Amino acid sequence: MTSEHSFFIPDIEYLIDIEGLIKYLGEKISIANVCLYCNERGKAFYSLEAVQKHMVSFLLFFFSSFFLT
Ligand SMILES: [Zn+2]
Repeated sequence: MTSEHSFFIPDIEYLIDIEGLIKYLGEKISIANVCLYCNERGKAFYSLEAVQKHMVSFLLFFFSSFFLT
C-alpha cells in the first residue's frame, strides 16, 4: 500500500491494530463521507464518490504545487 498509493502510517511502531485502523479509515470515508486530510474542517460531502473525487483532486493539487515550487 505504501509504494502503490504513497500511503504511510506515522509512528507505526506504536500501532497495535493495523487492520482496525484501516477499517476505521475506510468507514470514515465510505460511511461518514469524510476526507481524511480535511477531517470535517472543510466542505461536507454527501456521497462516497464525492469525497473520493475531492481527495484525488486535493492530492493532485498538493503534489503538483509541491513539485512546481
Ligand atoms: Zn479534503
